Amino acid sequence: MDLGLKDKVAVITGGSAGIGLAVARALAREKAHVVLCARDEARTVEQAREISREYGVTALGLRCDVTRLDDISSVVAAVEQSFGGADILINNAGAGSRETIMDAADERWRHYWDLHVMAAVRFSRGLAPAMRRRGGGVIINNASICARQPLDYEPIYNVTKAALMMLSKCLADELIRDNIRVNCINPGLILTAAWEEAARQAVAGTGADWREYLDRIAREKAPIGRFASPEELADFFVFLCSPRASYCVGSTLQVDGGWLKVVA
Ligand code: NDP
Repeated sequence: MDLGLKDKVAVITGGSAGIGLAVARALAREKAHVVLCARDEARTVEQAREISREYGVTALGLRCDVTRLDDISSVVAAVEQSFGGADILINNAGAGSRETIMDAADERWRHYWDLHVMAAVRFSRGLAPAMRRRGGGVIINNASICARQPLDYEPIYNVTKAALMMLSKCLADELIRDNIRVNCINPGLILTAAWEEAARQAVAGTGADWREYLDRIAREKAPIGRFASPEELADFFVFLCSPRASYCVGSTLQVDGGWLKVVA
């Protein structure tokens, strides 16, 4: 199937690792040019170089802390200068939290609001005008199953990801008249380095195998009984970026191996 993504320009936040990197690589495989942004500049530049070498597309790695408006403005300017704008924006950068509502300071709430919500607002505001000029575009916000089904140890993550899901719907209503399709994806268990690290820490000193630990989590949570690979999820992102998904607008799509326990 031709996904019609050749020579499109895609900006992927958190594109240097995990899901974001897998999405960037999958888009490059379709011959889209990619812009990766993350805080660790060396890693981001290296991953962009690797993508460029492997797929023969233009790939830029830019340092950006998505909680900072000035960093986002610099990325938007660089994209404008290098490509005359972008066609695809993947708001992916994010992180889990661990706290109770009673103990967490306001500052923590502000940080995750900036990371999960304002980053998507600011990147969309920055890149949508050029998408409009280019005849349309696609924005995908990467939320989480926790946007609909909370995990008890990370209320701030749950709340801000739920807000990102609602933002996606409101933004979709606002931008579809410019032929910009906005959607949201709620992944479940995706086996990234962060999960591996957490599992290694959890079993440290117990003699247990970290892979067994993750298998147990997957069996408990997801009816499919396993984690997804980032590449498996990335294929779903790529389809949603494609004009082949042209009638999908304002939706939040679960990719969670059946973990969501309600019909929503
Ligand atoms: P990883 O920790 O593997 O990668 C996170 C990426 O985001 C890195 O490139 C990191 O680079 C970047 N990043 C983190 N904070 C910032 C920031 N402030 N500014 C810019 N870049 C940042 O995460 P995952 O791939 O696991 O997760 C990606 C997204 O998917 C997140 O939003 C997460 O909530 C969501 N998700 C993940 C699930 C999973 O099971 N893995 C399940 C559901 C949702 P650097 O540190 O250099 O900035």
